Amino acid sequence: MSLGSGRCHYHPERAGLGICVECRNVICTECTTQFEGINRCAKCLGERLAKARTLVARKDWSPGNVVLALAAVALLFGGFYGLTFLAGR
Ligand SMILES: [Zn+2]
Ligand SMILES: [Zn+2]
Repeated sequence: MSLGSGRCHYHPERAGLGICVECRNVICTECTTQFEGINRCAKCLGERLAKARTLVARKDWSPGNVVLALAAVALLFGGFYGLTFLAGR
């Protein structure tokens, strides 16, 4: 981490302390956020968190959909089988 090599991208009056790994902008202490042990500016962290939330939301979604689809298929087949079984008798 190179120190004092520039000014914060968001606060031109402040000395930059780190560099955001996402946008490569120099950021000051206040703008630096440590997420997963990596320096990011507040803006990029927000984007990163938004992406993480979408991923989590997707993960929550698919198992529910699979269970619903399986239940629907089971009901369909069960009903079909029951009807043919009764009709065959
Ligand atoms: Zn950034
Ligand atoms: Zn700043």
